[in-house]
Amino acid sequence: MSLTNLLEFDLDGLAAYCERLGEKRFRATQLFRWIHQKGASDFNAMSDLAKSLRDKLAGVACVTPLAVVSEQASTDGTIKWLFDVGGGNAVETVFIPEDDRGTLCISSQAGCAVGCRFCSTGHQGFSRNLTAGEIVAQLWFAEHHLRRRLNLAAGDRAITNVVMMGMGEPLQNYSALVPALRVMLDDHGYGLSRRRVTVSTSGVVPMIDRLRDDCPVALAVSLHAPDDALRDDLVPLNRKYPIAELLEACNRYLDKAPRDFITFEYCMLDGVNDTPEHARALVRISQAVSCKFNLIPFNPFPQSGLKRSPRERVTAFAQVLQDAGVVTTVRKTRGDDIDAACGQLAGEVQDRTQAHKRMTRAPIRVHRPASESADITSRSKEGRS
Ligand code: SAH
Ligand code: SF4
Repeated sequence: MSLTNLLEFDLDGLAAYCERLGEKRFRATQLFRWIHQKGASDFNAMSDLAKSLRDKLAGVACVTPLAVVSEQASTDGTIKWLFDVGGGNAVETVFIPEDDRGTLCISSQAGCAVGCRFCSTGHQGFSRNLTAGEIVAQLWFAEHHLRRRLNLAAGDRAITNVVMMGMGEPLQNYSALVPALRVMLDDHGYGLSRRRVTVSTSGVVPMIDRLRDDCPVALAVSLHAPDDALRDDLVPLNRKYPIAELLEACNRYLDKAPRDFITFEYCMLDGVNDTPEHARALVRISQAVSCKFNLIPFNPFPQSGLKRSPRERVTAFAQVLQDAGVVTTVRKTRGDDIDAACGQLAGEVQDRTQAHKRMTRAPIRVHRPASESADITSRSKEGRS
């Protein structure tokens, strides 16, 4: 009989599991605290649990982490781990230390089915959803590993913020995402506040509504374009959930969100979505939803055929938004030297769905808000001559 991995459960799930073993809820709470607050995986070490329960658990359950394939540390302190999730798949997790916080960027899927043009994970195609336990295992490992490595005092936390911005579209793995978020938020687990846990989505409208009802945390929406024609090309999911519907879902989400704004992420692509006209069109969008903008300089990878916007263009773009009163930040690129920056997470480079070939064959149409359009390949040639 295979053992049940207790990392799969939120506290309610663990209580139900313990009940099936004939144990009271408070036992589940003790067990949950051992696992998530102390990082214990050996039932025998859980000294305040009855010996009979420890023995019972050892026969049917386990706390099994993901296998670490590799660890890379950047000169800026960023650490990237590659975890083996079986079947030739691997996912990446990135720790980003800052003066006042430690952020963990977590993956939700091996690969991704959305297939955004500018994203290395998208080029890889979709392999499979992670389980709740595999999502939690990334935090479990990083928190307890870093506590030891950084020699933190008892009670100090290494990770203060979680962003679901690693590989995969979290809202296309909803049934695993929600219990994993509950473990992060639970006071008996990691005790993170809802404001410090961010789900980033390419815009799965019905699931934004469900998240609002089931587990509202901070929401980031990957916008990347101010109009449907361009967004259809960059984020193919837009064909299903166009911008107007997405903005309405954002407004509904704000009713219950822990923050009073949505963060719009906007990846700056040279000659594609980075003109002052695009910025002005975003100002109009910002009037429809309480929001902040986070401009992400594109992190290039070989197969994308895209280039990062020059710094001056990003600055000018940000200025248009700021002048209109829209709070706008430009994301600092971290972990560049170890390919840990946004969208560079590719895990195992296996192309099961041939998504990459499909994507590189089709030319990208560059749409300007003024309805003019051009082929990006010819534009970038122009740029070089
Ligand atoms: N699937 C979710 C979360 C993972 S991607 C989403 O799309 O929101 C996390 C963020 O990284 C998204 O905003 C995404 O658009 C951005 N991103 C993806 N590829 C990138 C790249 N090559 N350079 C910069 N940002 C990228
Ligand atoms: Fe998937 Fe997000 Fe990458 Fe798009 S940007 S392919 S939704 S991981």
